[in-house]
Amino acid sequence: MIFDLRSDTVTKPCKAMLDAMVIAEVGDDVFNEDPTILKLEAKLAQLFGKEAALFVPSGTMANQISIKVHTQPMDEIILDKNAHIYYYETAGYAFHSGVSVKLVDGKNGIITANDVLANIQAPLDWLPKTSLVCLENTHNKGGGACYELDNLKEIRKVCIENNLKLHIDGARIWNALVAKKYSPFDIGQQCDSISVCFSKGLGAPVGSAIIGDFSFIKKARRVRKAFGGGMRQVGILGAACIYAIDNNLQKLELDHQHANEIANCLREKDWVKSILPVETNMIIFEVDEQKTSVLQILDLLKEKNILAVQFGPKQIRLVFHLDIKAEMIPILKSKMDEIIISKQ
Ligand SMILES: *Cc1c(COP(=O)(O)O)cnc(C)c1O
Repeated sequence: MIFDLRSDTVTKPCKAMLDAMVIAEVGDDVFNEDPTILKLEAKLAQLFGKEAALFVPSGTMANQISIKVHTQPMDEIILDKNAHIYYYETAGYAFHSGVSVKLVDGKNGIITANDVLANIQAPLDWLPKTSLVCLENTHNKGGGACYELDNLKEIRKVCIENNLKLHIDGARIWNALVAKKYSPFDIGQQCDSISVCFSKGLGAPVGSAIIGDFSFIKKARRVRKAFGGGMRQVGILGAACIYAIDNNLQKLELDHQHANEIANCLREKDWVKSILPVETNMIIFEVDEQKTSVLQILDLLKEKNILAVQFGPKQIRLVFHLDIKAEMIPILKSKMDEIIISKQ
């Protein structure tokens, strides 16, 4: 038995999802006539209370298209210093959109309305022009931390007052919806656009989407084509995404419980120095370097068929997902108990 906790992207489609893919009705989505994709896009627009949606191959493309549509070259984006858009998208914001970033020192990735206000550039010819705020919910490097709805409302207000667009990187918004019990509609009302992902916790093999108003999505379609993301009979993937929303959204609660249980187990280990608050499906813990090292712990885990990744100089990340079943958790706990660091 392999415990692959490297990411929630490692899930494989289940039989029922594959069956849904096989019978999907398809058409040419560049011509905007794939019935399954049209159904998925309409479903997403309705869920989030927006006018339209656009299916794209990846979360990175969803974010990059959104930035391209919301900004002009020489603009600046406000975002947390550990945001996926800054950290893991190969400086795509500079490459595709010619914009700079103003990094905020958020708390586990969560920033506030005051942070936004304090980082808006004055309208001077020699300064970048602040035009967009990007929030990440849940926050990956923040250990799966979620925004409170009130915080989002305050940020939204500052954005409106200062003529800034607000984009949410919602690759894991589904986890936030389940953990915080706000609705997708609530979230949709607090932003101009949101990107969502189906290939993480929801368990689809491929796919993300952007959701926004008609004019935003119309421009986004053109940018998607320019970025090489126009696809043809892609309803086979759309069917997996529809299946994922209908069947796997509520199952995320279980991933959150599993993360909590294992975090409780790790808290008792002398090789764990600290753990970020566990709000959703991931655990980021710091290894006690007086006793061991990240590489030693990763090796010891691997010997027990537990796969994890280094996430910072002293940190390890564990992510829980659909393919980590309830019956695997007690076994995982006992394997963790077997990891003993002998005194050097
Ligand atoms: C995974 C992820 C993305 C995009 O991922 P892709 O691998 O490009 O689909 C974007 N934002 C966050 C917060 C993510 O965790």
